Amino acid sequence: MPAAEPPVRTVRPRVWTKALVIETVLILSVPVILGAAVGFFEINPVEAELLTPVGFEAHLLLESFPDNALVVEIAYQRSAGPPPTSAVSTLLNRINETCSKGTVTVDEHAFDSSAPSFGEGDLLSTEESVRQHWPVPGEMSLFYLYLEGSYSSDPSVIGVAYRGSSIAIFEGTIARDASLFGATVAVTTTVMVHEFGHELGLVGIIGNAPNEDMTHPPHSDDPHDVMYWEVDTTGIGALGANPPTQFDAADLSDLATVRSTPIWTELVPWAVLASCVACAALLVHLDLRARTRAGTE
Ligand SMILES: [Zn+2]
Repeated sequence: MPAAEPPVRTVRPRVWTKALVIETVLILSVPVILGAAVGFFEINPVEAELLTPVGFEAHLLLESFPDNALVVEIAYQRSAGPPPTSAVSTLLNRINETCSKGTVTVDEHAFDSSAPSFGEGDLLSTEESVRQHWPVPGEMSLFYLYLEGSYSSDPSVIGVAYRGSSIAIFEGTIARDASLFGATVAVTTTVMVHEFGHELGLVGIIGNAPNEDMTHPPHSDDPHDVMYWEVDTTGIGALGANPPTQFDAADLSDLATVRSTPIWTELVPWAVLASCVACAALLVHLDLRARTRAGTE
């Protein structure tokens, strides 16, 4: 009678060896490092804000989550003086009509600069040195540089949204333009609201906007709308002494589209996180299978 075959000895190795733990931690740290680099966790807001394209923070401005509070910071070149109270009041009305924030506060302060003109690099460096409110968890911020100097790239420009929460208003250009005499407060009000509209993704920056004037993107084709294309420059004088300060019905419809349109920069960290979790799971699976096989040989 032949001897019985000895039973196959099955060894179940430990799942979490020291080497596997280290490898998994390294993989899962990738999204954390990348997220920190792009400001996803709002722990390096300066770099994040100076990188974000216009309109790409529309959801952070429009929605109550994750930031239920909004600070509107206005840093004015001392020679330009603070913006008219009525202009700020109208801007706040438009913010409250469009953004779902629990609290909206204004912080105005002066800064000293004798620069007669500002290019985009100057706007960024000035912002970095004078901006006091950067987005932090729970609180979004919208920043205005209110300038006596002009825009060096185009001296007719009276306002520009240059980053996702950063706007420049060229008040000196408005005040010096003869065609705008007598209408400076109204023009300032209009352009402050207009640039805010761009930060909300109007018109067509985020999502499809049927009212976008394709010959002057990203603007409206309605001269009675604050997002009309002539508002960015001294050409606003063509709209008369009382240019529009309201978002029209088409803009408000566009904002509903903006709210439901994914912004790809918001999805990237989740995609990276999902990829890294999948890689870690695959690593654990392959490592465990290899050691199980080794144990059965
Ligand atoms: Zn514009």
